Amino acid sequence: MTSDPSTIAITGGTVVTAAGPVTADVLVIGEQVATLGQPGSALTADWVGRAGQVIDATGKYVLPGAIDGHTHMEMPFGGTHASDTFETGTRAAAWGGTTTIVDFAVQPKGGSLAGALDAWHAKADGHCAIDYGFHMIISDVTDTSLKEMAMCIDAGVTSFKMFMAYPGVFYATDGEILLAMQQAARTGALTMMHAENGIAIDRLVAQALAAGRTEPLQHGLTRPAELEGEATGRAITLAGVTGAPLYIVHLSAAEALAQVAAARDDGQNVFAETCPQYLYLSLDDLARPGFEGAKFVASPPLRPKDHQDSLWRGLRTNDLSVVSTDHCPFCFKDQKELGRGDFSKIPNGIPGVEHRLDLLHQGVVAGELSLARWVEVACTTPARMFGLYPRKGVIAPGADADIVVYDPDARQVLSAATHHMNVDYSAYEGMEITGRADTVLSRGQVIISGGEYHGRAGHGQFLSRELCQYLS
Ligand SMILES: [Zn+2]
Repeated sequence: MTSDPSTIAITGGTVVTAAGPVTADVLVIGEQVATLGQPGSALTADWVGRAGQVIDATGKYVLPGAIDGHTHMEMPFGGTHASDTFETGTRAAAWGGTTTIVDFAVQPKGGSLAGALDAWHAKADGHCAIDYGFHMIISDVTDTSLKEMAMCIDAGVTSFKMFMAYPGVFYATDGEILLAMQQAARTGALTMMHAENGIAIDRLVAQALAAGRTEPLQHGLTRPAELEGEATGRAITLAGVTGAPLYIVHLSAAEALAQVAAARDDGQNVFAETCPQYLYLSLDDLARPGFEGAKFVASPPLRPKDHQDSLWRGLRTNDLSVVSTDHCPFCFKDQKELGRGDFSKIPNGIPGVEHRLDLLHQGVVAGELSLARWVEVACTTPARMFGLYPRKGVIAPGADADIVVYDPDARQVLSAATHHMNVDYSAYEGMEITGRADTVLSRGQVIISGGEYHGRAGHGQFLSRELCQYLS
């Protein structure tokens, strides 16, 4: 029997997809999954015997590579940049079993969408360890940028993020949002919304600073959950008026979840994601003594702990369809420190691209999520939501061989001393995790195995995405 060096057999594992776990061997030929086989059958034994490489997955899960639909590598914010480049950030993602990211190109005020897309390709192309796509942030609604939305869709960028927060920076008025949503409705593009009432929040921030309340906790207290709920409802109303599909990013509050659930019950094309930080961290972390709370400043802010149960329930009921990281790392030293003495100057963002799959696995361990639901919210639904299925998000013949062999019994302690993200702290420092990505394949290449990184910058390819695949 001659072996074929371009083939990999993954044997003895439990293949977990959104449909549930099955025992199967997986054959990879070149960059794609070729077939799944019943272990021990004569046919399967034949191709396993001829494979160039055999990965023993006994006792482990075999998952589709995870997809993080919300990252900000090298993102400019408040006079500084997110500390992970596309190279360091995608490498860290790979360590944690994420094999695709969808990052955000940013239209600057006065700039064009085409220029933004070019700028983000220049940052990412040739530097990524894993495959990547882009969403587009519209921060300047003009006749030209509205027209350019169609060009973006043709270029594989099929989702557009707008902000009801950050007046003077990314903020769009309700009228501007309406115009962009009308355009999105015509083209089928997904509108992604940062839903917080930034106009009211800015007043609360100014009042806090004027009263001498400058510590990081004030970031949370000046952005109350009600103002996320209100903005989420307003975004849903505007989407209903225009017929545009809507995706609420980084939903953190029970009030916002209630709005999404009601809209979905009404049959509206409204979807939402949450992030691991809202499932595991809380306002208590923002209240840590001294300036340490700055590590946990992101928007929307971490909420009081009692929101967490609602979010886990939302994940089970599918009112929350996706978990993304909103990975936007800023080092504590020199970057977060820009806000010493003025919480409003703390760069907004929490690092997390490396640990989403692990943190969600804790939800499986704790009985919050089934195995199938874990894979669905981390891998399969993001693929469908962002027009990548069935190339990504599933282990099936013809899919890209983005595969994670996950050891559910491994133990690890999250720490800045051991993580691979280019940031000097971990939001989860000291947290004990059960489970770890053991072997990671990206398009048929083994990029993580034996505790070592075998990938390379530039292996990752740009993904031209189709429209959202959930629209009814
Ligand atoms: Zn974000």
